[in-house]
Amino acid sequence: MFCKNCGSEIQEGGSFCPRCGAAQNDSVQSPQNAQAQLPPPNNHMVKNIIGLFLCWPFAVAGLIFAAKVDNLWRSGYFDEARKYASKANLWGNVSIWVGIISIVLVVLFYVFIFGTFAILGSGALYDI
Ligand SMILES: [Zn+2]
Repeated sequence: MFCKNCGSEIQEGGSFCPRCGAAQNDSVQSPQNAQAQLPPPNNHMVKNIIGLFLCWPFAVAGLIFAAKVDNLWRSGYFDEARKYASKANLWGNVSIWVGIISIVLVVLFYVFIFGTFAILGSGALYDI
């Protein structure tokens, strides 16, 4: 076999060229390949699915970002994958918080309406 770098002859199965020192083994990983072996960043899919029930428009945006994280990571777009993961996290948080706040406001609204009718119905105001 011959060196991939300089072309000089190497002993069969040798990992490094004795002349130029270049690695001959295909399984020697570049730093980027090594990173691809790591698990992708948290895509916050669960958070956005919960968000769907609370405030779906924001959660849909979050899910679109979340769905791309794993593919981007596997394709080697590590920075993009992290960017999409943080956007998914942001929209997941927004959908959950907007959802919770709207539910609280709706509950307060009904408490106010029914409370008012209850007071009127009880005749409490007519005694004043
Ligand atoms: Zn060589």
